[in-house]
Amino acid sequence: MAEIKVTLPDDSIRSLPEGSTGIDLAADVGRSLAKAAVALNVNGETKDLSEPLSEGDSVSIITQDTEDGLHVLRHSTAHVLAQAVLSIWEGATYAIGPPIKDGFYYDFELPDGVTFTEDDLINIEKRMNEIIKQDQHFERYEISSEEALELFEDHRFKKEIIERVSTGEIDSEISNEVAAEGTISYYKNGQDFVDLCTGPHVPSTGKLGHFALQKVAGAYWRGDEKQPMLQRIYGTAWSNEKELKQYLHRLEEAERRDHRRLGRQMDLFHFQDEAVGAAFWHTNGWTLFRTLIEYMRGRQNDTGYQEVNTPELMSRELWEASGHWDTFGENMFTSQTEDERIFAIKPMNCPGHVQIFKNELRSYRDLPFRLAEFGKVHRYEPSGALHGLMRVRAFTQDDAHIFCTEDQITAESGAVCQLLLNIYSDMGFDDIVIKFADRPERRVGEDAVWDRAEDALKKSMALLGLDYLHNPGEGAFYGPKIEFVLRDAIGREWQCGTLQVDLNLPGRLGATYIGEDGKRHTPVLLHRAIFGSLERFIGILLEHYAGNLPLWLSPLQIVVATITSDADDYASEVVNRLREVGLRADLDLRNEKINFKVREHSLSKIPAIIAVGKREVDEQTVSVRRLGQKGQRVMSLDDATKVFIAEHESRAIVSDGATG
Ligand SMILES: [Zn+2]
Ligand SMILES: [Zn+2]
Repeated sequence: MAEIKVTLPDDSIRSLPEGSTGIDLAADVGRSLAKAAVALNVNGETKDLSEPLSEGDSVSIITQDTEDGLHVLRHSTAHVLAQAVLSIWEGATYAIGPPIKDGFYYDFELPDGVTFTEDDLINIEKRMNEIIKQDQHFERYEISSEEALELFEDHRFKKEIIERVSTGEIDSEISNEVAAEGTISYYKNGQDFVDLCTGPHVPSTGKLGHFALQKVAGAYWRGDEKQPMLQRIYGTAWSNEKELKQYLHRLEEAERRDHRRLGRQMDLFHFQDEAVGAAFWHTNGWTLFRTLIEYMRGRQNDTGYQEVNTPELMSRELWEASGHWDTFGENMFTSQTEDERIFAIKPMNCPGHVQIFKNELRSYRDLPFRLAEFGKVHRYEPSGALHGLMRVRAFTQDDAHIFCTEDQITAESGAVCQLLLNIYSDMGFDDIVIKFADRPERRVGEDAVWDRAEDALKKSMALLGLDYLHNPGEGAFYGPKIEFVLRDAIGREWQCGTLQVDLNLPGRLGATYIGEDGKRHTPVLLHRAIFGSLERFIGILLEHYAGNLPLWLSPLQIVVATITSDADDYASEVVNRLREVGLRADLDLRNEKINFKVREHSLSKIPAIIAVGKREVDEQTVSVRRLGQKGQRVMSLDDATKVFIAEHESRAIVSDGATG
């Protein structure tokens, strides 16, 4: 029999009988691969496993544990969802159903305005499982658009897609629904379920099964408010049961930790429509905010930064000179004065810091010159992109700019890395991923200068023994950068810190210093932020600790609650004593049962509650209960005060965020 030769990803050549498909290839390589195979990549294009292979093809098998494989799995599960819905509701119409991050959705219209209920989802899941058990084959067909219109005659949304593709109004590349070049492709499985689709799909429904339907939401057809409102069923699908369970658990945890909910529960902040994307900080939240600023201020004073403050409104001309007006203008808020001058509300602090640098004649002896600012910036974000404190329009950066010579980059960068790791560790984050991004294709500056800047950053990390991931070409147009990503208690990654070398801005804004040679030189500028945005960092802290902040960060650290009114005077004495030593303590003298008080303060995530009753008054003791721990400890007031001060000052992290 004639043979064909194909090339595998490791460049090995494999001979197969003529007419072999991806299924044959997978089986030929090995049983475990055959089991995990869901689709094929042939010469850079994804195809069904059943695709016949040709002489000279470059082939790789897409397995279900990869992103591409999961995509196919989720997309196939979406088909089964539509199949199940159409088989349960006669007259149901289906629209589109793409895979999305972690899952898939499908949009439907039910006859007579019927809406899906929670029970319906359970029934649909059941039907889907039956379809999966039957191991129905997915078969691919290609037909003309006339034939397709006939086939999907009863489904107006499908018909509309076919019409819009054949008139060229939508590109099949982006629709994921239909094949290009005059033909329409569709897939069939089971007796008669068909769906428009470019594929690929898993070979048969038996490959699916580790899925869950999650919720129903309204969605306009084509995302257009003037179009009919459809019902969208969301689901998630994974390659095995363990991953599905882990994902559902992560979702539950994320929900429980949602900082917006905790923000209400702990009375920290709120948002309202009159200030879209800007937080109203309540006294508790603002106390936390100030605690972080005071902490950072202390760290910066110890490491040679000068704190400054620059105007929030500066004229258009400055932003034109800095280049922001052209490159960042769409994200800038502006304001016009009576004399028609246009001012921009600063989206970043750098140009302001350059003005301070330029305000005096600087010499090489002034370098490195480190300016820090808790700078409030505004950036326009579409309202749909906003998310609690995590994505806002108004935020405060812990921003700093270091003006230095090229020779100083290594030492300065090393100091920033060290400072940042110390700070993250104090906050309870020890799992940090460092990413190094080097020159992009479009850039300013000479290659020799880039060489030196990149080497200096790499050397600074090597000297500290830090491992990093390399992101080639991901640097800014003005210089290479290091990004710091922290991992939270449930494994999510948050990029917070950055260190960027800037070979552009000082020159643009005419910043110079007098060198040892008596001539003018342009300094290198390092942009640096550690928390990034204070607002977002607070959101991350709240979710990391599920609201159970370490004592030193808690806005209110201790509540002294009375058991009987006989203890009122003593309770006041205790609170005064705690406040005298600098602890944030409050009094609860209400005429309520102690259990009620304890429950309420626990819900507000107060780390310590001191209960005092008649016995405590008589013995001059206090009963201390700690959030998330059972029981209470009776101590003398002196001892209790010492314990709290020690915990506060050592910035101890008692709660690891995984509990509570
Ligand atoms: Zn499909
Ligand atoms: Zn900057």
